[in-house]
This record gives sequence, structure tokens and C-alpha cells, in this order.
Amino acid sequence: MKTIGLLGGMSWESSAVYYQLINQKVKEILGGSYSAKSIMYSVEFNEIVQLQHAGNWEKLTEIMIDAAQNIEKGGADLLVICTNTMHKMAPEMSAKISIPIIHIADATAEKIKEKGINKIGLLGTIFTMTQDFYKGHLEKKHGLEVIIPNEIDRQIIHNIIYQELILGNIKDESRQKYQEIIEKLHLNGAQGVILGCTEIPLLITQKDSQIPIFDTTKIHAEKAVEFALKNEKS
Ligand code: GLU
Repeated sequence: MKTIGLLGGMSWESSAVYYQLINQKVKEILGGSYSAKSIMYSVEFNEIVQLQHAGNWEKLTEIMIDAAQNIEKGGADLLVICTNTMHKMAPEMSAKISIPIIHIADATAEKIKEKGINKIGLLGTIFTMTQDFYKGHLEKKHGLEVIIPNEIDRQIIHNIIYQELILGNIKDESRQKYQEIIEKLHLNGAQGVILGCTEIPLLITQKDSQIPIFDTTKIHAEKAVEFALKNEKS
């Protein structure tokens, strides 16, 4: 079994879910007392949030490269960046390590295409919803038509992530706002919706949406397990 390297802490609320999902999946596949070989490097998230909102992506890139190198040195065979947003610097990180990065948007696009869906809604941080590293990646690399909420709704989605979900505050009124925004995406033609922030699945599950949801945390964690077990007996 390969050792899964988790770059977590963004936020720890979702990193805890990754750890659980990865071990559950290994147990489901191999049975009995099997568990995942993994190491986690967890950043201090307050610093990350400050730098993101100050637009200091250069410093963030340094932090992420340093973390990725530490994970590789720690013995990981693959790297899982436990956040959608911080895939922004995945190419720079990839250039500085020799283990593969399991890209969250690639894993998610694969699942979307398996369902025969072409027009997909995207929810996430404003960075994820509007920047090329994610929306553009899905469009250019995977040929998906990606629709995002309007500017006011994007701000609502973003604020709920940073003011509530990363703190573990799950509120019914916020769930309702998300549901209304998903419904608008549906009316605009979205055949499904990407929960493109690893904390959104703490708030929204399939029962809250009329259209299929794509839980990036689960899809990513399961892809990592698939990779870790590929061509391996135990
Ligand atoms: N976990 C979130 C994501 O998947 C947001 C936290 C972050 O800024 O990295 O994008």
C-alpha cells in the first residue's frame, strides 16, 4: 500500500473528514482491521486566510511548497492537498516535488463525466469560483461548461465558508441560502453542482439538492485511496 500524504489544516474541520473517509474506504475495500498508511502535515490556517485575503499568493506558494516538500520527506508516495482553493499553486508545488499530486478538480471532473453531465454548477470560495486554476481547469482541460452564481450570491457562498463552515458552525439558515443558490444554478441549466470547497459537504448533502451534487472531499479522498491501492496487494 502506498503512503498517502495529506496537506491539511485548510480547514482542520475538513481535514478530519478526509482522514475518516480515507480510512473508511480502505476498510471497505480490504476489510477487517486494514487502515490507510498516511501522514498529515497541517498548516496554521489563520495565517493562510489572512494571506489569501491580502492577495499574497507568492507567500502562500512558498508555504505550500515547503509543506509539500516536508510531506515528501516524511515518506509519502502521493500528495493530497485537502482544499480546492489551494490547488491554485498545484503546478508550482508539483515542480518542486517528485511525488504525484492527486488533483481534486481532475478527480471531480472524472465523476461528472461518468454521469454524462456536461453543464455543471460550481460553488466554492470566490477564488475557486472565478479563477482560472479551477473553473478554467474544468473548462479547458475537461471540456465542461461551468456556471457560477452571480456576484452577490458568490459573496454569500464565500462568507458562509470563511465565517461559519471553517469554524464548524453549521446553520440551517445558511443551508437554506445555499439551497436557493443551487436552485438558481439549476434554473440556469446546471445538471449538477460541484461542492467545490471541502467544508461545503458539512452543510449540504444530496438530500438538500434536486440535482446531483459532487462532494469534492469524498471524491478526492476516494481517488487517493484508489491510487494508493493500485497494483498493490496489501
Ligand atoms: N477548504 C476550502 C476549499 O476547499 C477553503 C479553505 C481554503 O481557503 O483553502 O477551498
